Amino acid sequence: MRKPFVAGNWKMNKTVEQARSLVAELLPGMRAVTGVDRVICPPFMALTALANMLAGTEIGLGAQNLFWEAQGAFTGEVSPAMVKEFCQYVIVGHSERRTYFGETDASVNKKVKAALAIGLIPIVCVGESLAENEAGKTASVVTRQIVDGLQGITADQAAKIVVAYEPVWAIGTGKAATGPGANGVIADYIRRPMSGLFGEEVAAGTRVLYGGSVTGANADEFFSQPDIDGALVGGASLKPDFVKIIEAASR
Ligand code: PEP
Repeated sequence: MRKPFVAGNWKMNKTVEQARSLVAELLPGMRAVTGVDRVICPPFMALTALANMLAGTEIGLGAQNLFWEAQGAFTGEVSPAMVKEFCQYVIVGHSERRTYFGETDASVNKKVKAALAIGLIPIVCVGESLAENEAGKTASVVTRQIVDGLQGITADQAAKIVVAYEPVWAIGTGKAATGPGANGVIADYIRRPMSGLFGEEVAAGTRVLYGGSVTGANADEFFSQPDIDGALVGGASLKPDFVKIIEAASR
């Protein structure tokens, strides 16, 4: 059985003070739900404050990025050890990082390895753009992102990761994929190549999330699909709606 997993990606939103108030608002509802792994991924600046607020709760904390080198002259970057000081999780390869900050499958692969090496669970994001989708390239793009992004890790390491299928055309657009559509991509272009790389057991045991305009109103459509184990949530994770999504995952 794969335990449901819901993570909120706050992106570049909330000062430290605002982050504290949002967590204070969401925490009672988030804590009331059991049987779901619940994770908040705020900006780096808020990690210390939120780690203190979440200490002693079952709510996990994740960063939105990390760099693969251990230390040194990499101005503006954050190392795996710095993330590990506060977090259990880290988002890797979000489409906004790929689009605006030049991340590639090769850099995603280095980040996945660096995260695993230090004991962080990477939430690895894959997904095709609108143009790729319309050109019928979903299969090849998502399969390539999985194969190249996860190359060189062991089956034991692969068993720890979380994958998020986030079609770029659905992120922040209000135009979510359909449940069956997302499920098909996950089954055919995420679990199947993972089975080829790491074996059937790892592929069937890996938690795979859907992300892209998930709300409290449409979450059930995704969570009722056999291959979807939860959600990576952007916009709705900044609102009380996030608790509704977590409640839907527990059903
Ligand atoms: C995301 O950024 O990972 C995301 C899924 O955003 P949204 O829920 O706002 O579409």
